Amino acid sequence: MIPEKMTAAVLHGPKELKIEQVDVPSCGSGEVLVEVAANGLCHTDVTYYEAKIPEKMRVYPLILGHEAAGTVVKLGDGVTGLSLGDNVLMPPVYGCGNCPMCKAGLDNLCQTSNMLGGNRHGAYAQYVAIPSRFAFKMNKSVDMQKACVAADAVSTTFYALKERLGIKPGDSVAVFGAGGLGLAALNVARELGAEKLYAVDIRDESLAQAAKLGAITVNSKGMEKVFKELKKMSGDGIRLAMDCIGYGSTIAEAFNTVKMGGDVAVIGFTLDNVELRAGNFMGLQKRVGGSWGCPTRLFPEIVKLLESGGIEFDVLISKYYDLPDVEQAFIDLEAGKITGRAVIRIKH
Ligand SMILES: [Zn+2]
Ligand SMILES: [Zn+2]
Repeated sequence: MIPEKMTAAVLHGPKELKIEQVDVPSCGSGEVLVEVAANGLCHTDVTYYEAKIPEKMRVYPLILGHEAAGTVVKLGDGVTGLSLGDNVLMPPVYGCGNCPMCKAGLDNLCQTSNMLGGNRHGAYAQYVAIPSRFAFKMNKSVDMQKACVAADAVSTTFYALKERLGIKPGDSVAVFGAGGLGLAALNVARELGAEKLYAVDIRDESLAQAAKLGAITVNSKGMEKVFKELKKMSGDGIRLAMDCIGYGSTIAEAFNTVKMGGDVAVIGFTLDNVELRAGNFMGLQKRVGGSWGCPTRLFPEIVKLLESGGIEFDVLISKYYDLPDVEQAFIDLEAGKITGRAVIRIKH
């Protein structure tokens, strides 16, 4: 039985988050209603919570949350390929399906997309309604309380590594920032065949987690030229680097770290300016590129990775909260008290 009301974390204005009873969303044509199992906590949630987004992007009231997994409990008209009781992973962003980007398989770059917990109600709630074509079925062996973080942290790094960086078996990868995103990057890189992994952070607890994934770790606290240390350790052998923090300085370090012909992906957001030696673009054939989210066409592959057991969620996830404590989770994340990813459990 689907109730009429549900518990949800509703944002009413900057830092005005209330746990309240609201109507269970209706399930429109082509949509499915999903009973949410859990929702991973992402920095973007905090950005919305604190209203550190342009005025025109602010929508109130809004149920936050965009990194979720759950069980299909209702099928809208015309839905095929899914059944009641299916467990599904839900991507955060839903492209329009008609624009040139969507048609090119890059719905992550759609300019008229909707985002869960961004401009449509998200998943810090007992139920969420989403278009059925964005509900990706997972087999029951996948623990949704953990796998929810695959919707964003794992998918973002999967796309960056696979398509933006073109990772190959035997590659070496340096990851700057070993928080939720960085740990996911290390785990995914290992699963995509990377041979040597390097993790750079200033927090020993994060580096300890990275070491569990097989990474060689560097605590860069007070270190001026991290790339020199990495070059020494690797014998100048690192081909790929990822900025998972979002500082001008770490992007520059990543660029200086990769060897001739190397590639850098930026998946941390920053408004910093970055200073790079231009001669190294042509002279050493290095590239730096951004990577934004993940095209939804890759989700079936991501689900397979989850089903194979390749993602070590117990290393990636460092803390669990219950829905009524979601605001505390935001505060803890901002205070740097969460090493990896935090998960908000909804149904357990
Ligand atoms: Zn996110
Ligand atoms: Zn589109």
